[in-house]
Amino acid sequence: MKKDIKPLCCICKETIEKDVFDPCSLVLITNSDMEWPDQKEQTFFCHMGCFRRVVNDDNILYILEADFPANRELEEEA
Ligand SMILES: [Zn+2]
Repeated sequence: MKKDIKPLCCICKETIEKDVFDPCSLVLITNSDMEWPDQKEQTFFCHMGCFRRVVNDDNILYILEADFPANRELEEEA
C-alpha cells in the first residue's frame, strides 16, 4: 500500500485514516480446509471498529489487548 493512498473500508466504504489499529487488513482464504496450493487469498482493508461490530466483539479479538505482541516482538523471540 502506498503511503499517500488511503484505503477504503470494505465494511463501511469510508476512507481509513491512520489510527492506533487502523488501517487493518483482512485476508480471506477460501477452501481453508485444503492445502495451500488449492486455496485462494484476497486482502481487504477495514476499520478495526467496523470489523469489531461485524464479529459482534465477544472478546475474541485478543489482538486489541495491550500485551498482544507485534510481529517484530515475535520475531525477536525466535
Ligand atoms: Zn469502516
